[in-house]
Amino acid sequence: MLYQTDGNAPTRTNGASAEAIREWDNAHFMHPWESMGNGDANRVIAAGGQGIYLFDPQGRRYIDGPGGMWNVQIGYGRAEMGQAIAEQATRLAYHSPWAFASEPSAVLAQKLAAMAPGDLNSVFFTTGGSSAVDSALRFAQFYNNLRGLPEKKLILARDKGYHGSTYLSASVSGKERGKGFLDTEQRLVRFLPNVNPYTRPDGMSAEAWCDLRVADVEQAILEAGADKVAAFIAEPILASGGVIVPPPGYHQRTLEICRRYDVLYISDEVVTAFGRLGHWFASEDVFGIVPDIITSAKGLTSGYLPLGAMILSDRLLNDITSDDREHIMFSNGYTYSGHPVCCAAALKNIEIFEREGLLEHVRSVTPHFQARLREMAKFEIVGDARGMGLIGCIEGAAAPGISGANRLAIDTEFGARVDAKCEAMGLIVRPMINMCVFSPPLIITEPQIDEMFDILETAVAQVQNEMM
Ligand code: PLP
Repeated sequence: MLYQTDGNAPTRTNGASAEAIREWDNAHFMHPWESMGNGDANRVIAAGGQGIYLFDPQGRRYIDGPGGMWNVQIGYGRAEMGQAIAEQATRLAYHSPWAFASEPSAVLAQKLAAMAPGDLNSVFFTTGGSSAVDSALRFAQFYNNLRGLPEKKLILARDKGYHGSTYLSASVSGKERGKGFLDTEQRLVRFLPNVNPYTRPDGMSAEAWCDLRVADVEQAILEAGADKVAAFIAEPILASGGVIVPPPGYHQRTLEICRRYDVLYISDEVVTAFGRLGHWFASEDVFGIVPDIITSAKGLTSGYLPLGAMILSDRLLNDITSDDREHIMFSNGYTYSGHPVCCAAALKNIEIFEREGLLEHVRSVTPHFQARLREMAKFEIVGDARGMGLIGCIEGAAAPGISGANRLAIDTEFGARVDAKCEAMGLIVRPMINMCVFSPPLIITEPQIDEMFDILETAVAQVQNEMM
């Protein structure tokens, strides 16, 4: 069953045939995390988007389950966004962020400072999430150098965390698959164990699990020596690692430990900010913490243009600022820091959020989304169905009686098989080994949530029949 459009689908290409696009893409576009296998990837060609839907050149309609890459918050096809971008590009496409200030970046910085918790008032614009994380880590190093603590450089990060693809941000990422054949800077980082409550031993309470995972942070600091540890970097929910929601109380208690040992807390909100959990930022509003640094990107522009931000607390800047330091610079920056057109897109995005009450909308549809998500656990092949806000994950797990090749297949192929079945029925999900994750555009309605989960249920039932 493929959804056919009414003929008005935004599927026009610029003239190239679908076959040519596929051929050139296979031959010349090296995609992120490109496989070194010899086969052609033959990806679905995205030709247009409208609301929560993507369309291929044949007009087939797909619900965009992952909302792009957790980022297309306001949905596709917003003409006013296109206009805002065109207007800014025509008025002033670019200026050096070293030499000039301009309205879009100044207004946006002031808005982000107002939205961010506590005294996080200084915004350093970047080109995306990786460069925001990179800048945060470089700032932590800079901060301790200026405080006369050049030995205090270690970063604590977590197994299953994902923070990006620059050398620094990849070095603090804990996804096994990301480490395989690429070098990272191991001397800089200490990894803490997986915090996923689903992996706790049978019979252990969530509280006892939380105690253990919180203790990991303190133990790592004590083992390395507090004088050696600069920062702890943590996603409020570990998104790419499989939508891992740490146990209740974890965030506050780990922040307290960081404060006790003079360790900066970097909250990587590249996924959780901009409405995913029903708030501008989740750190304080959802998890009750005011970190020292927040990194943000993705939903900041709803994916219409690339932009990231590293938001710093006043306290940190006050610690290292003085009259006689005029010559000392945070010499980190990008040609496109505060790009006027990207900032104009972020401002239009915020305007749309506010006008349409999108944060409130997310909070109102979340119970339905989460209820449908949890219902997926009724399938024997689904070991866990977890999430928060408009973000969810189902994890495949073989029932105890299943062994051998079938068990291995469930552990390695569940995600890909569910993905293939969903795609054939008009739903994109993001497969990750034995998991599928989804984070649809925030404008999704309850009937559309049902449409999405109805397809997912059919797909999982079919996969279960095949594999168990
Ligand atoms: N941090 C988190 C939590 C992410 O999920 C990602 C990307 O998925 C990044 C950082 C990197 O962002 P980008 O891909 O925009 O560089």
